[in-house]
Amino acid sequence: MSQVQTVQGAVEEDELGVVLAHEHVRFRDEAVAVEWPVRYDEQLEFDAALVAVQAAKHEGVRTIVDPTAMFGGRDVRFMKRVADETGVQIVACTGIYSYDYLPHYFENRDVDMMADHFVEDIEIGIQGTEIRAAFLKCAADAAGVTENVEKIHRAIARASLQTGAPIMAHSMPAVATGPRQVEIFEEEGVHPAKVQIAHCGDTDDVEYIEGLIDRGVYVGLDRYGLEMYLPIDKRNATAAELLRRGHAEHLMISQDFCATIDWFPREAADVFESQGAIRKWSMTLVFEEVVPWLREQGAMDDASFQTIFVENPKRWLTA
Ligand SMILES: [Zn+2]
Repeated sequence: MSQVQTVQGAVEEDELGVVLAHEHVRFRDEAVAVEWPVRYDEQLEFDAALVAVQAAKHEGVRTIVDPTAMFGGRDVRFMKRVADETGVQIVACTGIYSYDYLPHYFENRDVDMMADHFVEDIEIGIQGTEIRAAFLKCAADAAGVTENVEKIHRAIARASLQTGAPIMAHSMPAVATGPRQVEIFEEEGVHPAKVQIAHCGDTDDVEYIEGLIDRGVYVGLDRYGLEMYLPIDKRNATAAELLRRGHAEHLMISQDFCATIDWFPREAADVFESQGAIRKWSMTLVFEEVVPWLREQGAMDDASFQTIFVENPKRWLTA
């Protein structure tokens, strides 16, 4: 049996249980947070994380995969405090969350040197702790796969080859980044079963998503509640169709919820909710509305629930 690294140490793969494959206990710009720490309230953030994770726990979640990487304010000590307090296992990553920008530090170092940084996080520990990363994270967004984004993807791929760690790649279906991201991983020799392309559920173009699945990767239907990208009825219809076509073994369902996020002033959340840009965004929406709806439609049964929330994350994390 394989083991998976969590912020509390390694656990047996069968201890992962029901997994939310993409949630953030906190998301913030680490540079701003370091320069103006008084603008942040650590206790408030911690409390928000506890509320979100406890709610998930009540729905039966035993493990949360938290793909907060560099530029998302990754803080494994914070994550471990949340895991210790809630009893929910949290799986941390290494990598760079950038749509293009790279610090001069990495601009002037090559792909392999960048990969070394990720390997250290996987094999030794993160941020001076013994907490090890279980997977690798990179991103491509509206700007597409720019030169810097490609460099990060290649470094991620090489770190995966060296360590065996799986990969999660943030994608943007609106500009179809997914196929090129998969192509880069393939060029570097990464097996597609190690790759999860996140945010595919932001489109209802089933053919696009199926095109990715056909290449052997996992796809994330992982932004439930973020109506601004795609409303829930369209997300659900897409999920149901993918299940009807027999793709349960390639799907991850999650919410990309951020218990706190500093991208907007705090009061903006209420405005977004009132304008319908977000709706019931949380770590529990998929259990409250999505799973019940899919079951009602006959698109999901106990077996496919188990496949999506237990087996797929486990298979991906131990690939
Ligand atoms: Zn995310």
